[in-house]
Amino acid sequence: MESTSPELRGGSGGSSPPELAQPRPDPLRPGPGGAGILIVEDEPELVRALRINLRARQYHVLTAGTGREALAVAASHPPDAIILDLGLPDIDGTEVIVALREWYHAPIIVLSGRTSPGDKIGALDVGADDYVTKPFAMAELLARLRAVLRRDDASLDRDFPGHRPYTLHQV
Ligand code: CA
Repeated sequence: MESTSPELRGGSGGSSPPELAQPRPDPLRPGPGGAGILIVEDEPELVRALRINLRARQYHVLTAGTGREALAVAASHPPDAIILDLGLPDIDGTEVIVALREWYHAPIIVLSGRTSPGDKIGALDVGADDYVTKPFAMAELLARLRAVLRRDDASLDRDFPGHRPYTLHQV
């Protein structure tokens, strides 16, 4: 009679699940380095939705409901990027961009119900980095935010020409 006990067969049985050793990270992609985002928007429901979605991805969120408040908050707590409505109660968003661009160089994404090419061109020409029209898909806005933050990170390397982050293959 042969009795080969399974215990003697060695370690091929997989007695310790490797999954338990490495807990899976949160499926939500974290914001790059916990970037600070200023939301400039006068629609409370939209501010709420943006805040929830950004915080869920580890962004730090600041909000402003008017153009003047946006300028004050940006000056006191300069964010890594700004999401800006154009139709604000006091100052037009385009003028807010003009005022910000006197000193603020991080990305600005316009989020506006204005869909005409003239509005887009105007905002981009005074310094917006991207323009998303309402209604919008939250996933697309978040992707565009990641994109402008990546570009902004890459631009920090521009003093080192040998360290170009992009190759011609990606153009
Ligand atoms: Ca508005």
